Amino acid sequence: MFAKTRDRDWQLLAQKALTGECLTMDESLAVLEAEDDEVLAILQAAFAVRKHFYGKKVKLNMIINAKSGLCPEDCGYCSQSIRSQAPIEKYKMLDKDTLIAGAREALNRKAGTYCIVAAGRGPTERELEQVILAVQEIRATLPLKICACLGILRGDQAKRLADAGVHRYNHNLNTSSANYAAITSTHTYDQRVETVQKVKQQGISPCSGVIIGMGETHEEIVEMAVALRELDADSIPVNFLNPIPGTPLENAEHTQPMKALKVLALFRFICPSKEIRVAGGREVNLQSLQPLSLYAANSLFVGDYLTTQGQAIAADHQMIEDLGFEIERCALKKGGE
Ligand code: SF4
Repeated sequence: MFAKTRDRDWQLLAQKALTGECLTMDESLAVLEAEDDEVLAILQAAFAVRKHFYGKKVKLNMIINAKSGLCPEDCGYCSQSIRSQAPIEKYKMLDKDTLIAGAREALNRKAGTYCIVAAGRGPTERELEQVILAVQEIRATLPLKICACLGILRGDQAKRLADAGVHRYNHNLNTSSANYAAITSTHTYDQRVETVQKVKQQGISPCSGVIIGMGETHEEIVEMAVALRELDADSIPVNFLNPIPGTPLENAEHTQPMKALKVLALFRFICPSKEIRVAGGREVNLQSLQPLSLYAANSLFVGDYLTTQGQAIAADHQMIEDLGFEIERCALKKGGE
């Protein structure tokens, strides 16, 4: 049993991760259920893995909320759902020029990836075409990777996005298979998995992550990490629920900062070579411990999230510099690979 730990045991987990072996359930639970006094040792082990694959580089991503609100789905955490009473801005798909202006802003913020995110079950033909036109122009004129997040996709839609130059497609698992029905009734966990598989089949890099803090058990957190390992998601946003007033989960509790760090370390151990992003809810859940998250994660969002505020961009840049880490700039040239 792994429950009684010494510093070197965490390093054993790092060794396992580096040799490509998956942690057992017992080992994973030991990370999540470790005493808070163990957190620095756990992070040190996670950092050994992170450093092996990513050095001290930090990838920055910027989100644009390309279409906001009025979503017919009923995800309990989401302020853009038709069920939500949250007073958010609601608008249709932004026009091409606005999407392109967002890409320029992503470059100003030193982001390497620009994430075009639209609320909804899936894109209409008109919405898909609008995104494709913007993506084609961004790819031709700016050195940026593009991630699209437009909901459930058919295979032919994924192919059109791939042909337009979309590098990555985000579709989060969000919560465990067992907890899914408690969070959303209008689509299933399996449908989410299928979309991730479809984009991968079309040669788009899959991005899929989780939201921690929605009533899932520790075992379910481990299952989600293992599911993403098996799905071979290249990028894994680990969100921590920011309970938004007016949503069904408005009274959920925040994740404690120490717990959030253990979760990030676990994802690094289970998906060692993948881009682990400390994502939505970073500021309100990790609070003053935010910088420590980068010893396990190697990626951040800069700026605001879809309907909630992030910290100032300069503060993120300063945090990275203070840690002695370095922003990873996009290696693409204009219109190039
Ligand atoms: Fe929100 Fe997306 Fe769920 Fe719609 S499908 S309610 S936009 S999370």
